[in-house]
Amino acid sequence: MTQQISIIGAGLAGSLLAIGLSQKGYEVAVYEKRPDMRTTDMSAGRSINLALSHRGFRALDAVGLQDTLLAHAIPMNGRCIHVLDEPPFLMPYSPRPHERIYSVSRGELNEILMTAAEDAGATIHFNCPCHGVNLETGDACIGESQKWISQDLLIGADGAPSAVRKTFEEEASFQCHQDLLEYGYKELCIPPLPDGSHQLEKEALHIWPRNDFMLIALPNLDGSFTCTLFLRYAGDQSFEHLDTEETVLAFFQEYFPDALELIPDLCTDFFQNPTGTLGTIRCYPWSLGKNTLLIGDAAHAIVPFYGQGMNCAFEDCRLFLEQIGSSLDNLDSILDNYQQERKPDADAIATLALDNFIEMRDSVANPQFALKRKLEQKLELAFPDVFTSKYCMVTFQD
Ligand code: FAD
Repeated sequence: MTQQISIIGAGLAGSLLAIGLSQKGYEVAVYEKRPDMRTTDMSAGRSINLALSHRGFRALDAVGLQDTLLAHAIPMNGRCIHVLDEPPFLMPYSPRPHERIYSVSRGELNEILMTAAEDAGATIHFNCPCHGVNLETGDACIGESQKWISQDLLIGADGAPSAVRKTFEEEASFQCHQDLLEYGYKELCIPPLPDGSHQLEKEALHIWPRNDFMLIALPNLDGSFTCTLFLRYAGDQSFEHLDTEETVLAFFQEYFPDALELIPDLCTDFFQNPTGTLGTIRCYPWSLGKNTLLIGDAAHAIVPFYGQGMNCAFEDCRLFLEQIGSSLDNLDSILDNYQQERKPDADAIATLALDNFIEMRDSVANPQFALKRKLEQKLELAFPDVFTSKYCMVTFQD
């Protein structure tokens, strides 16, 4: 008899996992709390575009989708640094030209993954939130009617605020620490020029480092850039002081004058778009009860400063698919092997992502840092078997 797997959340990890598990012959049902984004006009809610790199592509390749995604992505060869009152300069990510990261639309990526999941045989049930799990029976409570569903394996891919993880919190053996950053983020838009071209260098990730805070911009295929302002909630330069159009304009005039010229709807964007929260979730075990597993942000949400949250969630999917094979006969050991192998790596990227905030908002503006990166890249070229920079190990290897 075909074994049944239910996935909670048709986000990035849930949809990718649904493809891989369906390809292995499982009967896969996905329960998503939101309506179908392919037929409903929805604001993205969270970061409109994301940086996709090697770990993410490797997982997409494992289900046959790497080339499809490449056709929807813009390569970014390096960071374009905008120091105040100086011309911008490019800091390449790698000395090897094929090592670049790619800007992709979160919505488009999610839609492609959902369609591929359905094509592979999975069923996605929209408007079906999960309310909780009975860990003893492995059943999940789903939808408005709060119906209980049974399956051989239940996977919580329901993101950082995971309802499945909340059920785990009722168990004494479950440890969970959530650290919120004292910074929030706000998304803004640099529109395309009238001819549809980009207003800034297209194949770069732009950073305006200002020591304690920063603005970044990633390119979109339609000629626009999505900018994200990372700023403290409270204190001298903070969201709490940006409460009128005058204060917002004065802040951008002082710290981001070149960007201000490119964002015509700054004040509208600023006051209409929500201020997002950022945090790290470290929890364990990821597998509890009869048959339930957490994956992606539900297991290990991280701050976005290494551009690795989604890449890490995709890598989770690839490694889990490698463990699971085509039968759930040894489910306990499959789940245990997976979590034991994966947890140290998830902890490592959580720490690296926090460290990288300082690099992005501060170090990249320092000429000594630029020299250090140049030296690293020369060493990488001269001694490829001996030396690899930290950035390359995280972004271009696995
Ligand atoms: P999600 O994408 O959050 O998907 C969870 C899904 O579950 C959603 O569809 C949600 O609607 C659904 N859901 C939630 N609760 C329930 C419920 N109770 N029942 C049913 N369904 C439910 N990562 C990168 O790799 N590169 C980047 O450049 C990058 N930039 C980022 C920038 C910002 C500002 C932020 C906030 C994050 C960024 N990330 C980036 C991280 C990335 O967004 C996440 O790591 C990634 O989305 C995790 O995927 P996921 O599928 O685990 O969770």
